[in-house]
Amino acid sequence: MRGYALAAALWWIGHAAAQPAPQTRVLLFYSLNVEADHMLFATDALRFFAEVSDKHNFRVEATSNWSELNDENLKQYKLVVWLNGGPPGGQQQAFQRYMENGGAWLGFHVSAFISRWEWFKQFIGGASFGVNNWPPLPARLIVDDTESAVTRGIPKTFVAPVNEWYSWRPSPRLDKNIQVLLTLDPSQYPLGIKGLITDKDPDVPVVWTNTKFKMLYMNMGHGDKIFTSPMQNKLIENGILWLLGASSP
Ligand code: ZN
Repeated sequence: MRGYALAAALWWIGHAAAQPAPQTRVLLFYSLNVEADHMLFATDALRFFAEVSDKHNFRVEATSNWSELNDENLKQYKLVVWLNGGPPGGQQQAFQRYMENGGAWLGFHVSAFISRWEWFKQFIGGASFGVNNWPPLPARLIVDDTESAVTRGIPKTFVAPVNEWYSWRPSPRLDKNIQVLLTLDPSQYPLGIKGLITDKDPDVPVVWTNTKFKMLYMNMGHGDKIFTSPMQNKLIENGILWLLGASSP
């Protein structure tokens, strides 16, 4: 069944790519053989990106082949998205060069969860995974920066759909290059039942950018409910458009 849903989503992508020759191209990477809930998210995300690209006239392609993350191929793309994982060691330097030469990146959820890659750790704000809530739950988020193009039209607080939320140690907010856009509202702690986010992690950013790069990280990305909130969908759409340079900062 999951295979069918993925095939349908890929058909939808192919359909969207057949629209009249838009210039801007976006490449989505997804990993196979990952946690089922991370695959479900990737399947829904492929469909969501196809819809957003139709609406805003850019072209989106998707691959599970990380060897496409190479210098020559990346030249064609204005934005690279990691839906549910990161590249193997052999592809990491090409990504670094892409970002240092003005490329754009959007990473979701587990895509920040990469060990033994020092450059990436700085890129993401110097933080490592801390704890997570379990089971996955909806959570109230606070918009830290209401002036950002990414949070335009988003209320100061809203409830995001069911997700597995990660804490980060140290908080990426402590990195001077990091601009936090949304944070878990600590007034709902402890968050979780079996796995808990508590006051031990008083500051849990969920969406942020490293101002030295054109990048955005979003902690959302677990399960099949992520795209059920029009408000959160708008946030993600805003983020895509901002990274594509289609909205002012
Ligand atoms: Zn997860």
